[in-house]
Amino acid sequence: MLIGIAARRGAVLLATLGLGTLLGCGSATEAPESAEPGMSPAGDMRNSEAELYVASARLWRPMSVSVCWENPGAGDATQRQWVRDAVARTWEARSGIRLNGWGTCAAGAMGIRINISDVGPHAKGLGNTLNGVAAGVVLNFTFNNWGQSCQNRRQYCIEALAVHEFGHVLGYAHEQNRQDTPGSCTEPPQGSNGDLTIGPWDLSSVMNYCNPQWNGDGNLSATDQQGVQQTYGVPWVSMGGNLTSAPTVAARGTNRLDVFARGADNQLWQRYWDGAWSTWGSLGGISLSSAPVAVSRDAVTIDVFALASDNTIQRKSWTGTAWTSWSSLGGNFTSGPTVASWGSNRMDLFVRGPDNKLWQSYWTGSVWSPWGALDGTLASEPAAVSWGANRIDVFARGTDNSIIQKYWNGTTWSGWSSLGGSFVSSPTVASRGATLLDVFARSADNSLWINTWNGASWSGWTWLGGELASAPGAVSKASGHLDVFYTAAGGEVRQASYRNGW
Ligand SMILES: [Zn+2]
Repeated sequence: MLIGIAARRGAVLLATLGLGTLLGCGSATEAPESAEPGMSPAGDMRNSEAELYVASARLWRPMSVSVCWENPGAGDATQRQWVRDAVARTWEARSGIRLNGWGTCAAGAMGIRINISDVGPHAKGLGNTLNGVAAGVVLNFTFNNWGQSCQNRRQYCIEALAVHEFGHVLGYAHEQNRQDTPGSCTEPPQGSNGDLTIGPWDLSSVMNYCNPQWNGDGNLSATDQQGVQQTYGVPWVSMGGNLTSAPTVAARGTNRLDVFARGADNQLWQRYWDGAWSTWGSLGGISLSSAPVAVSRDAVTIDVFALASDNTIQRKSWTGTAWTSWSSLGGNFTSGPTVASWGSNRMDLFVRGPDNKLWQSYWTGSVWSPWGALDGTLASEPAAVSWGANRIDVFARGTDNSIIQKYWNGTTWSGWSSLGGSFVSSPTVASRGATLLDVFARSADNSLWINTWNGASWSGWTWLGGELASAPGAVSKASGHLDVFYTAAGGEVRQASYRNGW
């Protein structure tokens, strides 16, 4: 589960993308920058990029790239917006890559520099080799000289070409350059090759010249989407804010999420979704010494817990009509808490003690049990979830930085077992249904990983990308749904959502 593995996955996409033959546009040709091997004569609407499949070393890190126009015209704002929108609804919408700026290039600007010219559209390289390169990407808005068949479908051509060229920007080579290109695809390889292939050879890729839909009509194929997620992570949206801890999230139903984190004032902050997101608001009260943790045990209530500066655990509850003030559950602990609930009259709180063991207190509708030590040697705060009555699964980071698990089956506690991996944060866990578990954690390169228990076996750790400055927080509000949150550098909270797919 090295980061390098994720980077290597990127190559797959490269192989699958390709503007290829401009079947749709008829005869436009991507003109080469200068004569590049394999270029078609002008007029046949082919791309002439220099590089072809994904070069894993050419992926952008960090996953934020500035884009500027070298020669924007007063009359081409609409066309420039088509380009930006086409990239936003494809590569950006389906992954964690972010393409920012889009203004006029300053002298010596780094990032992607787009030149508008009536020649064959092309990119001068793949991925980060384009960083700061003059006219690194050339796009055609007029088609008077090159690609005249686009004159009666300019928006279609501009958008489809933009999606293809930005595939090269992200580091993807032409699909037909792959070694496993079938004989039925007779388009010659063009440009550089990648070093990694993702998925089987993909006729439908926007990077495949043999795609019967020219440039995929500007729509990513399933494999293109798989590839961009494997190289730039799953999509996320910013929730803004200025938070100083990991977020936590509770779901009171399929139409309600409550996200909490510690603010810059060390107090509890909340943002909720009930079909639309509220703004961030402070709930105040006490200074928190840990990230908060929240659970909804029914469709009405929320219980929030955190470590206070005197190392006790504190609770604050939403009764359905009002917030209670903070109340102490005592103890003397060395981590933030976690909480699980399998019903409206049951909560189980876990926390790490000064002995690094797992400690528990449970609530059965009216009173909390005394704190009691279980076992283990925890290197982080724990994470817990209940996927059914009398079932609790607890996770933590172990002393070897792997994620370890212990569960209650209604009768006895299991011992600790390891899910492997190497992480720098505490884990978080959500359950999409009975017997199902999804565990998340942050690795040393600040990316998010997931490991899924399907009732019979663990999937193994899978890279989800992201740029984490905190541990993650996750919840499942409906079958097949996961919502994962983390705090990024600068204090904004980000959300990634799974709806039977990221
Ligand atoms: Zn190309």
